[in-house]
Amino acid sequence: MEKDGALPSHDCPLCPRLVAYRQANRAAHPDWFNGPVSGWGPLAAPLAIVGMAPGVKGANRTGRPFTGDHAGIILYETLLEFGLARGRFDARPDDGLELTGCRIVNAVRCVPPANLPTPAEAATCNRFLTVELQRMPGLRIALALGVLAHAAVLRACGIPQSRVRFQHGAFHELPDGLILCDSYHVSRYNTNTGRLTVPMFQDVIRNIQARLERALPQVANA
Ligand code: SF4
Repeated sequence: MEKDGALPSHDCPLCPRLVAYRQANRAAHPDWFNGPVSGWGPLAAPLAIVGMAPGVKGANRTGRPFTGDHAGIILYETLLEFGLARGRFDARPDDGLELTGCRIVNAVRCVPPANLPTPAEAATCNRFLTVELQRMPGLRIALALGVLAHAAVLRACGIPQSRVRFQHGAFHELPDGLILCDSYHVSRYNTNTGRLTVPMFQDVIRNIQARLERALPQVANA
């Protein structure tokens, strides 16, 4: 990875299409967050969960990853069940929910139209995902939610995309020691179609915890 760098301002100008969409959302909804969404959770955590991009009425509205739209439900309820979060998830930034064993970041920090960043936007924002991962000194596992997040983690680690294929449930040991785990995204589409079920996602988190407990027994017993 590159040397540690800065994170973007609330008015990051680097992706023209996303800046135009941000400005339109600010005009239509001045009370929404409408900016690049920062990572959330303890920097000391051994697990980074990497999403794709904010949802327009989710993190783009509330300013907290996976908060305010459907995708957060399965994610946070599973994290609570497995002890990676505490409190109660109520889809609001002031619901009192606290992440304890993971940090959540997005591959693309600004909301894209139709929920789909372009490859160029993902490439441009990758410098900030790189910084996010560098800011986690004890990072052992990156859980990629979906193909775009998988590709973004590889890019942040300087690994060619062709080297590691996305596969739900797989663990990939990367050359620098980081383990990349893949899961289908926790989106409404995937859960409604059955591509990702709650037991499937629970299995992913359970397997991650087992890996972390083997690697970091002092954390598991804390
Ligand atoms: S997506 Fe990332 S690089 Fe693009 S404008 Fe937003 S913060 Fe900047």
